Amino acid sequence: MIRVTVTGSDLEGLLVEDPAASVRLLLPSPGERDLVIPRWNGNEFLRADGARPIIRTLTPLRIRPNVLKLDLEIVIHDVGVASRWAQGVAAGNPGALSGPGRGYAIDRSARAFLLGGDETAIPAISELLEALPTETPVRVCIEVTHPEARLVLPDHPQSTVEWCDLPSDGSPGDALIHRIKDADLDPGIRVWMAGEAGAMHRIRRLYFQDRGLARADAVIRGYWKRPRP
Ligand SMILES: Cc1cc2nc3c(=O)[nH]c(=O)nc-3n(C[C@H](O)[C@H](O)[C@H](O)COP(=O)(O)OP(=O)(O)OC[C@H]3O[C@@H](n4cnc5c(N)ncnc54)[C@H](O)[C@@H]3O)c2cc1C
Repeated sequence: MIRVTVTGSDLEGLLVEDPAASVRLLLPSPGERDLVIPRWNGNEFLRADGARPIIRTLTPLRIRPNVLKLDLEIVIHDVGVASRWAQGVAAGNPGALSGPGRGYAIDRSARAFLLGGDETAIPAISELLEALPTETPVRVCIEVTHPEARLVLPDHPQSTVEWCDLPSDGSPGDALIHRIKDADLDPGIRVWMAGEAGAMHRIRRLYFQDRGLARADAVIRGYWKRPRP
């Protein structure tokens, strides 16, 4: 994971009310050094030449409106424009963001929270830990592909954090699902999970169909998609 801090006067007025929100990061197209700012046509961003810009969705972290800074934490993986960009970006390079997208509306009357996901969910889970009511129990389960992805998470007085190692021959979600399949889902629990789309689909089926969790009590989001073989 690489943390990139974004700054600039355009951040003035950026209001992110809920944790686990999103922003979209514009990346330079292949062969171009400069950013070409696209236009919103009411439906999608397009460049003047009609081409689709390269845009990736990330979690806006630690927004500090007084100093006009926010952090992005980007998972480094084998291939990927954002992943490569994060490894090469240097102080002073231009950047462009749009957003924010909606975050998680916390139910402050919840009896307990269950948070889960993979490395891409760590920034959002960090924010959730800072925002959830301090008197409510929070169980956190995070699947990691590499042991060094275990980061120090913000302190929450009622939280327990469990890291689950994905075996090298496993599919995304295997270790997480093994850990959370029998989790307490009794009334009053609220679930937030994010990670690979297929893994989240399996968790939705498990929780909604097999275990009868009400859909309104859970947010389970695909954050990235492993290509089908
Ligand atoms: C609301 C929201 C918030 C998000 N927040 C964050 C965040 O804070 N930090 C973050 O790192 N990601 C976050 N993501 C996920 C991120 O948008 C994707 O992982 C994105 O695909 C990364 O772009 P890339 O250019 O590196 O890879 P891409 O060019 O999109 O993908 C290239 C290849 O890499 C694979 N791939 C993509 N991501 C991963 C991964 N994480 N691990 C392994 N393989 C991968 C794809 O399957 C594809 O085969 C978020 C997504 C959403 C929807």
